[in-house]
Amino acid sequence: MRLILLGPPGAGKGTQALRLVAKYGIVQLSTGEMLRAAVKAATPVGREVQEIMARGGLVPDSVVVSIVGQRIEQPDARKGFILDGFPRTVPQAVALDRMLATRGLGLDAVIELRVDEDALVRRIESRIAEMKERGEELRPDDNPEVLHNRLRAYRQQTAPLIAYYRHQEVLRTVNGMAPIADVTAAIDKVLPSDPPAGAREADGKKKSEELNS
Ligand code: AMP
Repeated sequence: MRLILLGPPGAGKGTQALRLVAKYGIVQLSTGEMLRAAVKAATPVGREVQEIMARGGLVPDSVVVSIVGQRIEQPDARKGFILDGFPRTVPQAVALDRMLATRGLGLDAVIELRVDEDALVRRIESRIAEMKERGEELRPDDNPEVLHNRLRAYRQQTAPLIAYYRHQEVLRTVNGMAPIADVTAAIDKVLPSDPPAGAREADGKKKSEELNS
């Protein structure tokens, strides 16, 4: 099973990805986490992207495409994966299509977590405040100003992927504002009930359907 979780920062992609990992025994590939690890380890890539991430911009397509290309080659990704935070631009999506096509693979579904942006901002701001109150460590890009930059990047560069994947007939939209368990149930409902064990051919895409949108 190969899935993409699509949605703005704070939409709950990470939370839902963890549940899908447990359910399908596939790996979660979060480009944000991979890049944060590179920054922490001060690798050349980490040094290149640190400042861009700190202000909430998108790192160059070539950087993330190369990271994902290497990652999906690893043995643990053979059974399938959930991409969380990738692709974030149309060129990244095109590069992913190419990577999968050369391996004779396709996507089973692109799950869009649709959220109301104002409610989302309130949700993230209160989460940041609660974490601060508990004395928990915040990510450097977890602050209101950077959040607005990240949302702008989503609107301008990532939202066009909704039309891209709708056109490919793999888009499944669920209401990301519902309680976590309800979002999980909605995702279960839109996923193929009997995913093939091996590679799914790129030309066998299912009809797009929208739920709770
Ligand atoms: P995330 O944890 O997915 O919210 O990502 C945190 C930050 O990492 C983003 O604000 C971007 O600066 C960077 N990032 C993560 N994934 C990508 C991507 N696919 N393309 C460009 N930048 C990314």
